[in-house]
Amino acid sequence: MINVAINGYGTIGKRVADAVKKHVKLKLLGIAKYSPDQDAKLAAVNGINVYVSKESRSAFEAKNIETSGTLDELFTSADTVVDASPDGVGEKNKLMYTQMKRKAIFQGGEEADIGFSFNSRSNFNEARNKEYIRVVSCNTTGYCLLIKPLVEKYEIKHIFASLIRRGADLNDSKGSQLNSVEWKAKSHHADDVRSVIDVPISSVSFKVPHTHSHINSMLIEFYGDKPTKDDFYEIFRYERIALINTATTSSQIVEVSRDLGLKRYDIFMPCLLMNTFMSDGNSVFISFMVPQESIVVPENIDAIIAQNDFMTKGESMKLTDDMLDMKNIKSRLEKVFN
Ligand code: NAD
Repeated sequence: MINVAINGYGTIGKRVADAVKKHVKLKLLGIAKYSPDQDAKLAAVNGINVYVSKESRSAFEAKNIETSGTLDELFTSADTVVDASPDGVGEKNKLMYTQMKRKAIFQGGEEADIGFSFNSRSNFNEARNKEYIRVVSCNTTGYCLLIKPLVEKYEIKHIFASLIRRGADLNDSKGSQLNSVEWKAKSHHADDVRSVIDVPISSVSFKVPHTHSHINSMLIEFYGDKPTKDDFYEIFRYERIALINTATTSSQIVEVSRDLGLKRYDIFMPCLLMNTFMSDGNSVFISFMVPQESIVVPENIDAIIAQNDFMTKGESMKLTDDMLDMKNIKSRLEKVFN
């Protein structure tokens, strides 16, 4: 058993907590909370131990939120701390983990130098026993899941990536301007992909005011052979990617996910939008949808296993897939949008 603590219980932390709870080889010791809000009450209602700083304990008790101990007690009894704190806060928390000699897994909002940049499909084995791992961001995870199987079979000359990013998560009070699109030329996403896979890539991103997904596109130029549309179906048949043929809006995918009864409509994998496939000369164009809140959940679970050198890559990915029902989700999405 690996003892896991989760620091931060927001969009990512609460999903990773649920997945750790379900996993037969992982034990969720508890979560660290900083304010006595409804999320703290939710964790308690869900039977999750809530740990708080010594100073804030009375504020939690005043709101009738039972606490299980201090942050120090939580982190020092964990084998791994999953840090799901807001962008940039992980870097400050790292000082504490280092002092406590705790292994930690950070998220994509941290700079790449905080730890080993991880994508299970691409570099699980290299992450074994690494003290500090960074699960790359939701979009970068999507790019890695798509690019890695391609570079194993073809030689890529260059990828131009264009990202349409959701402006905020459902529960965010911060986020993009309501009636405006914000863009960033030479966005950081290309460098982030290169922190995992050595591939020539450039990117531009556009932030738009909606909540439920990112829509990304790639123009991939190949040396020599390039994959056909049929090859794409073959290459991604057994990957953590749903091949969607008929959807024409992101909301259709979200609505189907809700109708399939998926908790928080989490699908845990990108959807390749096969009706956007185009091919010309040496290039292929394809778009994909990234469910930003859930795509990094399986990655965090595999990262915990790799960091503690607990199973092989194949065993870990299979167990994670089974636990999150990912094959079934993929097959049902593909049937609905066939
Ligand atoms: P969030 O704002 O929803 O949640 C962050 C949580 O951390 C909150 O519960 C907050 O109270 C808590 N917190 C505050 N101060 C803290 C501290 N000092 N230490 C630990 N926790 C503290 O954020 P999120 O969207 O879950 O993002 C967490 C990380 O995951 C970021 O690095 C982000 O870039 C990354 N990420 C987010 C998404 C997404 O779509 N939301 C996707 C992939 C990766």
